[in-house]
Amino acid sequence: MPQLWQTTARDRRGTVDPVTPAAPETPNNAVRLRPEIAALPPYRQGRPAPADGYKLSSNENPFDPLPVVVDAITASAASVNRYPDATALALREKLAERFGVTADEIIVGAGSVALIAQFILAACAPGDEVVYSWRSFEAYPGLCTVAGATSVQVPNRPDHGHDLDALAAAVTDRTRVIIVCSPNNPTGPLVTADEFAAFMAKVPSDRLVLLDEAYIEFVRAESTGPGASVDGATLTGRYPNLVVLRTFSKAYGLAGLRVGYAIGPVPILDAARATAIPLGVTGQAAAAAVASLEPDAEAELRRRVDVIVERREALRAALIAQGWAIPEAHGNFVWLPTGEHTVAVAERLFDAGVVARAFPPEGIRISVGEASSVEVLTEILGQLVGTSQA
Ligand SMILES: *Cc1c(COP(=O)(O)O)cnc(C)c1O
Repeated sequence: MPQLWQTTARDRRGTVDPVTPAAPETPNNAVRLRPEIAALPPYRQGRPAPADGYKLSSNENPFDPLPVVVDAITASAASVNRYPDATALALREKLAERFGVTADEIIVGAGSVALIAQFILAACAPGDEVVYSWRSFEAYPGLCTVAGATSVQVPNRPDHGHDLDALAAAVTDRTRVIIVCSPNNPTGPLVTADEFAAFMAKVPSDRLVLLDEAYIEFVRAESTGPGASVDGATLTGRYPNLVVLRTFSKAYGLAGLRVGYAIGPVPILDAARATAIPLGVTGQAAAAAVASLEPDAEAELRRRVDVIVERREALRAALIAQGWAIPEAHGNFVWLPTGEHTVAVAERLFDAGVVARAFPPEGIRISVGEASSVEVLTEILGQLVGTSQA
């Protein structure tokens, strides 16, 4: 089979020696990249949905932005010739008031993904380990690799939730960061407050724990008792090694602007600030976030979250009634355990106008979107349930 290097050789010498071909090595003029980075899968955003279809592949909020939020963005556009406030103080002060902490105990970033990257960079030297559940958020492995850290993936329990005992047991001398994602993207279960407390008691207090709560606003579990969800807002100041991460991308509907935040001990946040690319949060993003936290705006946003939660419950109940083994769903998405049928089911959904996120050979994550998408999903998945589960 002709290879790139052979073509090059033929171009130069006019012929390829069939007996002793040149070794198929990297041409010596190829730019030297870190091999582990060059080997990373390229980022592929979900396919665009067909014109009258549904993009349910990125856990986005299906509602248009609030008019007051659009106004705040428009107003701040008038000063884009200036750099933004480097630490988004107005936003941090608003969040600090909300969580009963000082503004120094809050850091903002260009999405909470950027913050997770900063914390890993702050804590890990090459070869240090980051422990997290798997399957979980698809960004974690790449962020670890970019930092030169080693991913240690601990399998989820059979119910698709985190196995916190196994996570704690996976901590070694080399572990610098443990990530807990609750509710877990893409599978849906949450970590309970009791499970998390027991986990924190086992993890050495000099190892950073990141509690990723990108979907906490969609949780409707009891607030007390054994099923109560962990809630980072109630844990501020409790642990010297805990940082809680949240985002405006999902419940607040600002995915396109890139703004998230972390709450935690000042020395850890200072270290994460040092690893940031400066000025990542634009003035528009900060203004939109501040406007979203105003009482009237936030009340409306929370009503929308209630609608999405209702839709999620309706969708999950309908799919379970059809015979699908849908795990608990505490975010704005449901998980279909399609196993080796994953690609085929994703294709059938696509043909029906639905773009979902396929993770072959495990399953499919479907975001809860427009009301009419629920009917389309139940119709098509009802036809597939008998032949498509793992
Ligand atoms: C969406 C998401 C985030 C945050 O995304 P940003 O848009 O970067 O704020 C973080 N963690 C998980 C698990 C997510 O699903």
